[in-house]
Amino acid sequence: MFKTKKLFKMAILSSIATLMLAGCGKEESGSKDVLGQIKDEKKIVFGVKHDTRLFGLKNPETGKVEGFDIDLSRELAKEMFGNDVKVEYKEVTSKTRVPLLNNGKVDAVVATMTINEERKKEVDFTDVYFDAGQSLLVKKGSKVQGLEDLKKGTKVLAVKGSTSAINIREKAPETSVLEYENYAEAFTALKAGKGDALTTDDAILYGMVEEDPSFELVGGTFTEEPYGIAVKKGNKELVDALNKALKALKDSGKYDEIKNKWIKQQ
Ligand code: GLU
Repeated sequence: MFKTKKLFKMAILSSIATLMLAGCGKEESGSKDVLGQIKDEKKIVFGVKHDTRLFGLKNPETGKVEGFDIDLSRELAKEMFGNDVKVEYKEVTSKTRVPLLNNGKVDAVVATMTINEERKKEVDFTDVYFDAGQSLLVKKGSKVQGLEDLKKGTKVLAVKGSTSAINIREKAPETSVLEYENYAEAFTALKAGKGDALTTDDAILYGMVEEDPSFELVGGTFTEEPYGIAVKKGNKELVDALNKALKALKDSGKYDEIKNKWIKQQ
């Protein structure tokens, strides 16, 4: 009898806990789809880079984040919701973008993110919105002119959570790879002579050259990095809506306008 009572009490307590969790805000609720939440709250939060010139860079003078990913996400939101939904941006890095999506802090990641099979296990992607490829950035006049020069004793700088950090170990197995939190830190380290080269997508490296033309890209590209917008797994409606909006921006010429504004070299 005593046991039954105790069990009964436990069952009641656990249902109360479940109900309390279900009643909690956006971050804890896993049940409602993200598109429905965006419409209810009249707000969409995009996860964007703050450290990546041309794609998502925080301008220290204005405090605003600027770049291709920012302009594209703003136009996508306008296309999907008109002016009904407020657009907000939150910083993600290569390492934090998947956790921030999965814990609901951001609704969609538009942040130089390559679509690949590994990541598809964790998140859902839209169609490709930009094609990049991995390359190397070196100081002009460097002895390193391509992958073949990354021999034993050389050091390459990369960013945690990027495909670049994984790929370079496979393409240049003898080099040491030093990983940084973000691209601003990695480029500062390259300028300080902490490595022989920095590796990531060519489009991101062009942004670094724009900042400091004493650096250059060498050796061409050695991977394919198709960028997609990532959303929390299981949100087909949101992926479909983003794809539809992306297509509309391509058809209207808006996509090209944004791309031409930021991407001069490809
Ligand atoms: N596109 C690559 C990736 O998704 C490199 C750029 C980045 O770190 O965001 O990992």
